[in-house]
Amino acid sequence: MTAPLPSLLDLPREDLRAFVKGLGEPAYRGDQVFRWIWKRGARAFDAMSDLPAALRAKLAAAATLAGPSAASIAASRDGTRKFLVRLPDGKDVESVLIPEDRRMTLCVSSQVGCALACAFCATGTMGLKRHLSPGEIAGQVSLAHEELRERPHDGHPEDRDRPVTNLVYMGMGEPLHNYDHVLASLRILTDEQGLSYPARRITVSTVGLVPQMAALGEAIPVNLAVSLHAPNDAVRGSIMPVNRRFALRDVIGACMAFPLGTRRRITFEYVLLAGVNDRPEHADELARAISDVRCKVNLIPWNEHDGAPFRRPSARDVTAFAARLEAAGVDVTVRRTRGRDIDAACGQLALRARDDVRPS
Ligand code: SAH
Repeated sequence: MTAPLPSLLDLPREDLRAFVKGLGEPAYRGDQVFRWIWKRGARAFDAMSDLPAALRAKLAAAATLAGPSAASIAASRDGTRKFLVRLPDGKDVESVLIPEDRRMTLCVSSQVGCALACAFCATGTMGLKRHLSPGEIAGQVSLAHEELRERPHDGHPEDRDRPVTNLVYMGMGEPLHNYDHVLASLRILTDEQGLSYPARRITVSTVGLVPQMAALGEAIPVNLAVSLHAPNDAVRGSIMPVNRRFALRDVIGACMAFPLGTRRRITFEYVLLAGVNDRPEHADELARAISDVRCKVNLIPWNEHDGAPFRRPSARDVTAFAARLEAAGVDVTVRRTRGRDIDAACGQLALRARDDVRPS
């Protein structure tokens, strides 16, 4: 058996330059191919019309342009769109496009399933099937761009080249568990010869994998969101198995060490679970725990999914929790639930393995 050909969508521009050099071509041809893929959306070598035919044939013999495609797109009443993203091997993930006032945010997945098994998360029930490749992650952005070009969002200011304004790594998977591919995808997406996203428009969300948080901070100035979800180790350990490896104080220490420049802040995500972590004393303890971090807290009232033993707190309890944090000097926002009618809200992304149901 021969190894499958590599997909050029997986290569940051530097690596693509090295790849074409390895074929005996000048490195600038790599830049050209990179621009075709990411700026102009080419997904066939024959579309790359200013490359010599001989080079196109050589590329086609050595590599592919395989990447994700949109198997279906569901639209919510609130304007949110959920993509069922089909990967070249037939597995699926989801990404979610969320129009806000002046933003158009895309939430991308980084893994098929997830290994972290947080008790309140639907993706966590799937286990980890595999990591996504860099091109499978970055390619989700191309799919959203294509969709917005075909079906623009009413009243949204359109930048044809980059209609998605913000990217969040908050879909399926734990981005920092797939660190190398996530970093490569960030290099692709921020490359000035490609989609050219400013790093400050990108947020990577993590359960708090301490060593990778440090590495990411060194590598690229993206924003960091950290899923805290509890004010102490007892509560956190009861809903997030990862807390056995990295205790709360280690996670908070890694946040304090994360290089933020002058204006940026860490975002702490806090899913509110009725009776579990939403009591006034939890708010007080949380405010104390994070008092040394330049941060804001994003409260996420829990979104239900089948079989999970939690309840969404009442709107009143959510407001009271937020007010209590505010009184302690914490900057708080409550995440508006979006796309619930299409199961696109936080923590609702999970797919039955199609392989189990497809007739063979
Ligand atoms: N693995 C990363 C990114 C994934 S999820 C992380 O954990 O940060 C994005 C956010 O949604 C996380 O804060 C996650 O804890 C939260 N979340 C998961 N399930 C949820 C649910 N059912 N309701 C609300 N938020 C949820």
